[in-house]
Amino acid sequence: MGSTTSKYDAPSMVPVGVDPTRASIARVYDAALGGKDNYAIDREVLRQVATVAPEVNDLAWSNRNFLTRAIRFLTDQGGIRQFLDCGSGLPTAENTHQIAQRIDEHARVVYVDNDPVVIAHGEALLEENEVTHFVSADIFEPQDVLQHPLVRKYLDFTKPVALLQVGTLHHYTSDNGAELMREYVDALAPGSFVAISHFLDPETPELSPLARRMEELFLHSPMGSGMFRTKAQLREFLPGLEIIPPGPGEEPDFTLSDMWWPDGPRLRPLSPVEQCSAAAVGRKP
Ligand code: SAM
Repeated sequence: MGSTTSKYDAPSMVPVGVDPTRASIARVYDAALGGKDNYAIDREVLRQVATVAPEVNDLAWSNRNFLTRAIRFLTDQGGIRQFLDCGSGLPTAENTHQIAQRIDEHARVVYVDNDPVVIAHGEALLEENEVTHFVSADIFEPQDVLQHPLVRKYLDFTKPVALLQVGTLHHYTSDNGAELMREYVDALAPGSFVAISHFLDPETPELSPLARRMEELFLHSPMGSGMFRTKAQLREFLPGLEIIPPGPGEEPDFTLSDMWWPDGPRLRPLSPVEQCSAAAVGRKP
């Protein structure tokens, strides 16, 4: 848990644990994905945001589906065998280690979260998996994560690592996120990757007001966080990294999460909410 003297600060640095009167990010996310590990207070957050964005759950699915494709890419094309998954969430059917270890059973994954419910679920799930581990730490305190004895034990930072901040940084409400990410990137060996997905303010007259209304509701909901940043703000989270083009012939940049190397052609238009989630993968030269 983060201390009050931290140089970085965000509401989610104080995990809510099993307090049923406070919404937890992990449980709200679980509810949005149709999971069973959530309370009425968590579903209330989604209900409030649904008043302006009925497809609010798309935010979670766009994010999770990006994670799946990005892990496949990182393991297969990127040759990555070590993953530091920051803010892993409640384990669902397809988690980082399952995707990576289908390609290489020796791929090592360290999950980091600060929600006690997530840690308890994770440890139970991983009891018999020797190459996957759970660490309880504050992802907005990079040194606490990077210096954690289990992170040091299981990941070799002289070799490439994929650092995942998927669906996490929008819960970081301060404006020094670039500095925070630089601390992580500085610790990575050349050839490492960083994957990010994040709520987006698309900066169009139609969608920007929707993003701002969702942000307002998230910030004042029992969850207390959920920033919709612009692409320019998101680029700052990949300092000194070469962004992988997000599709054939595309400029290296953030793109809509659903449009990052989709599995196939789209047959239906993206919902307004799906146009408020962006993703990118960067490589350290
Ligand atoms: N990365 C997963 C995914 O994309 O499917 C889960 C994303 S979920 C929206 C965000 C996760 O970040 C939650 O499990 C939450 O507990 C965790 N989280 C938020 N703030 C955190 C912090 N300061 N330290 C550690 N974990 C945090």
